Amino acid sequence: MHKPMAVTWIVDEDRLFADMSGSTDPSDNPCTACGGCCAHFRVSFYCGELSDGLGGMVPVELTSKVNDHLACMKGTESGHGRCVALVGELGRPGIGCRIYARRPSTCREFSPWEADGRPNPVCQQLRHRLRLPSLAPLLPEQVAPLAPA
Ligand code: SF4
Repeated sequence: MHKPMAVTWIVDEDRLFADMSGSTDPSDNPCTACGGCCAHFRVSFYCGELSDGLGGMVPVELTSKVNDHLACMKGTESGHGRCVALVGELGRPGIGCRIYARRPSTCREFSPWEADGRPNPVCQQLRHRLRLPSLAPLLPEQVAPLAPA
């Protein structure tokens, strides 16, 4: 039996968020030795999440305007760029998000595992590009709670 992972699921209305802040040990929090997703996607989100908007928390100075409705994290504007909030060396222990508690909903929704506990295949691909091993499925007791109907 493999070790439980440090994931906490948060259901907010019809959205499912993953929180991995409970550990900085790569053996139960693989994100702390990866960073692949934070250097691959354009990380865009509704501008109401910005700290200068409607009560949002994402630091506006770390973002770029996409259009009148969307912002994105600086560095990720064109995709395949590293987010300005990412600190550390890709694929090495110690990498992390310096605004983790204030990161956009886009980041909160992208989990290493699907809600049913299977590894997220896109996460796996990004890990493999960094020569990191595949993730094991979550233990049955760690599967995400069902979102409210
Ligand atoms: S805000 Fe944090 S979690 Fe989101 S892409 Fe940037 S470094 Fe990654």
